[in-house]
Amino acid sequence: MQERYADVIVDISSEKLDRVFQYRIPERMEGMLEPGTVVEVPFGKGNRPVRGYVTGISGQAGYDPARMKEIGRVMTDAADEEARLVGLAAWIRNRYGSTMLQALKTVIPVKRKIKEKQRRWIVLALDGDAARERLDFFQRKHQKARARLVEALLDEPELPWELVSEKLNITAAVIRALEEQGIVRVKSEKLYRNPVQGYTGEKKEIRLNEEQQRIVDEITGEWEEDPPGRYLIHGITGSGKTEVYMELIRYAVSRGQQAIVLIPEIALTYQTVLRFYRNFGDRVSVINSRLSQGERYDQFERARNGELDVMIGPRSALFTPFSRLGIIVMDEEHEPAYQSETMPRYHAREVALQRGKMEHARVVLGSATPSLEAYYGAMTGKYRLFRLTRRAGQAELPSVSVVDLRQELREGNRSMLSRSLREAIEERLSSGEQVMLFLNRRGYAGFVSCRSCGHVLTCPHCAVSLSLHRGGKLVCHYCGYEQPAVKNCPRCGSGFIRTFRAGTQQVEEELQREFPRARVLRMDLDTTRGKEDHQKILSAFAGREADILVGTQMIVKGHDFPDVTLVGALAADLSLHIPDYRAAERTFQLLTQAAGRAGRGKSRGLVIIQTYDPDHYAVQAAAAQDYESFYEQEMNYRALAGYPPAGGLFAIHCSGPDEAYLKLACGYLKKFIQQAGAGRGITVLGPADEAVSRIQDQYRMVIYLKHENIGMLTEIKNRIERYVAVNHGFDQVAMQFDIN
Ligand code: ADP
Ligand code: ZN
Ligand code: ZN
Repeated sequence: MQERYADVIVDISSEKLDRVFQYRIPERMEGMLEPGTVVEVPFGKGNRPVRGYVTGISGQAGYDPARMKEIGRVMTDAADEEARLVGLAAWIRNRYGSTMLQALKTVIPVKRKIKEKQRRWIVLALDGDAARERLDFFQRKHQKARARLVEALLDEPELPWELVSEKLNITAAVIRALEEQGIVRVKSEKLYRNPVQGYTGEKKEIRLNEEQQRIVDEITGEWEEDPPGRYLIHGITGSGKTEVYMELIRYAVSRGQQAIVLIPEIALTYQTVLRFYRNFGDRVSVINSRLSQGERYDQFERARNGELDVMIGPRSALFTPFSRLGIIVMDEEHEPAYQSETMPRYHAREVALQRGKMEHARVVLGSATPSLEAYYGAMTGKYRLFRLTRRAGQAELPSVSVVDLRQELREGNRSMLSRSLREAIEERLSSGEQVMLFLNRRGYAGFVSCRSCGHVLTCPHCAVSLSLHRGGKLVCHYCGYEQPAVKNCPRCGSGFIRTFRAGTQQVEEELQREFPRARVLRMDLDTTRGKEDHQKILSAFAGREADILVGTQMIVKGHDFPDVTLVGALAADLSLHIPDYRAAERTFQLLTQAAGRAGRGKSRGLVIIQTYDPDHYAVQAAAAQDYESFYEQEMNYRALAGYPPAGGLFAIHCSGPDEAYLKLACGYLKKFIQQAGAGRGITVLGPADEAVSRIQDQYRMVIYLKHENIGMLTEIKNRIERYVAVNHGFDQVAMQFDIN
């Protein structure tokens, strides 16, 4: 019988993670091992028994088998958190097609020796009246950072240092200055014995309304059910979803369980984090993508040691090593940022569900605009659906109007601002209210449309927009279809047909021409290069240092600006016709979120959507704030075109330094797929150039496979992995897999 060998990682939490050792598999263990299995192996000179994890199995020895050690035993009793996370990594490996090593690195942060940091808190050292007097002074002197800090401390007299520096954007110098003036004190952890007592800030006592309470009752009522519950809360912005999450988490904590709260980074604002601190004191920790591996490891270590009940963060918070995980909350579950951009390209929603299943934890998804996947899941019984239909505070929903840009053109207005938007801006400026204007740009590829009738050129096979390429070709990024560019609109014959381009900088210039006295801030990729620029601009706008904020869609997410009463989407088409089957979904989400930004304070908000395609269902449904009608029409399109969630879509992204070679390799791969999938009803599209066809001298192509059954696509993916592994022709081609 042929000998088999296992690759084993020893001591996962150290830097040795990168090293894999090969061991012989004894006959008695035949069939018992698979990637992720916990084993005991002899290690080092003294053959000390240590525990390790199998990352792969092969029939080939990497060196002389006579000198190779044998696996000691399979540790079936290894039920601790680490073993469970390794199991999760194995699932990720299989689902997304990465190596076991890539999957392990995603799930388990590497330990690095770093200095132990003290946790510091900033405490208000004055009484309320004296502090308010200082606040007044700083405001008069336009010392904005100081004012911001004192104001925050008046609201909450003790704040964690990180919250102040990262979310309030206050430098150490400012804190030191205030400390020297005796306005604040800095406490370190050791002085800080009883953290929860510190919370003397006025805590808003909130009584859940009927809709909210019902959700809490239903979920806690079936807490013990097996399998654990999966829920989707569809609640409009401001309807009180976060209060529901916190009540559920409180319940979990009262039962000695822990909670993970996923929030997209962009929505992890000062207000949100503070709400959790107020409720859970220093039993909550926050991680973000700016933490180094070592810092993340530290936070995970605190979780492992039982110092925490709640972990908040983006995607990677999902891997917090809690031993009694009770609930995973995923807020804004529709956000694209939940999908990893690097291998393994996992989606946090799917991994959350899997972790919930493995550890018997409930999963609660929440959104004002659920992803099609999630809502489809709710319609088909995968999730229990709850609705929150009213705004919780006094705030009213804004009114929304749609402006037809074709009509503006017909009447001679070629500017980026329609007449009604210009008027609305003028009104806000004279009444001292604030305005947000955004361009919902996504991706790079320019689609081609007619400015007279709104017609957009689309691929006859894929129902997505064609992109204009240099040399004048129109290209489909799904199937590779090409046609020459056109001079006149095929629908109305007009010569006003061109790629759609618009930039935030031009908008800013136009605003300055039209409203010379208005103070305008711009937020886009160019103005947010530095790591704090993003926060700086938002704080400045919140501090009323500007009247108008212009930006890309990054401005509409997450932030609360009570004085904003007008939000304008300058060209809804920019995201409506990107070459992506999710274009309409993204547009609907953006427009609905934007609407949620207007009028969060006392006065009612107005939203103006400018578009060349006012009859499009995504625009119409967003204007009517009618999710269900959007969902129905979008599902029809997905079903007709065979896109998820109506069917499975599997993308193979290939890249390499040599264009001709890459094309050839993709051609072979396509042939292999066609053979492997023969007679199974798999549709193969492409290879086609990616929307960005070259990055850093790497050429990029993509092949898409469609099938109604995801299981079938996973099977094909496994066969491709094996095929590619033994075919050296693919050594120079980097490949990433993306299912749905
Ligand atoms: P969402 O997460 O759905 O956007 P939030 O939970 O942030 O909504 O609630 C919006 C605002 O309404 C917050 O200021 C919150 O404190 C307040 N709020 C939520 N529920 C209630 C309630 N039952 N009573 C009073 N205020 C509430
Ligand atoms: Zn036309
Ligand atoms: Zn096509």
